[in-house]
Amino acid sequence: MGETRIVFQGDRLWLPSGPVPEVEAELSLRLPEGPLVLQVHPDHPLPAGVEALGLRDAHARMSEGDWQRAGRAYQWLEWTAGHRFCGGCAAALEPGEGHGRRCPACGRSVFPVHSTAIIVLIQRGGGRAREWALARSPHFKPGVYSSVAGFTEPGESLEAAVHREVAEELGLRIHRLRYFGSQPWPFPNGLMVGFRAEYLSGELRPDPVELEDARWFTEGDLPLLPSPMSIARKMIDAALAERNDG
Ligand SMILES: [Zn+2]
Repeated sequence: MGETRIVFQGDRLWLPSGPVPEVEAELSLRLPEGPLVLQVHPDHPLPAGVEALGLRDAHARMSEGDWQRAGRAYQWLEWTAGHRFCGGCAAALEPGEGHGRRCPACGRSVFPVHSTAIIVLIQRGGGRAREWALARSPHFKPGVYSSVAGFTEPGESLEAAVHREVAEELGLRIHRLRYFGSQPWPFPNGLMVGFRAEYLSGELRPDPVELEDARWFTEGDLPLLPSPMSIARKMIDAALAERNDG
């Protein structure tokens, strides 16, 4: 007792009303900073006083710090669960150097990885006339528009990925790319790297495969925006806060 334990059942996080109950885990690991992370079987009965919520729903019920730590725990669990066998020779992996895992048969080592994605908020114009290109993916909640995002490809810089995604998804060219910030995104194992950029040229032409719609929005006619937990929303809020620029 006394140590911090984070329990997941599938992709749902246990939110106990008191201390985390003792439980038999299918998989356990320790985060570098100490907390023990446990994965229990999906059919395990939920102990009294424990709720199990997906990370998105859990956000409203936790401090930002606890939520980020839970997301981090989930990424480590996901990686460990998905790396039980060697990708080279299929032998069972063993604990290896640092936080990696090592194949006893062929010597290959693997280390935790995540998928890097870029997200970019594009602005056109200044002052009261400024507007932002926001797009709707079919899997967004009804009415929600957000900045465009996409995964980087092997061998591609973050900047090149931003220009490529904007060209592919919106048909636009941009310039004056500025780093905004980054956010681990545990759905399931992403790192979102946020940029802001200014419109350069082109007509908004949303990619029909990836997007339902894309439009320019001014401050006065904004659509529903993504959840406040997301870097997409933080970028839009930061842009809106720059009232005195123009
Ligand atoms: Zn191997």
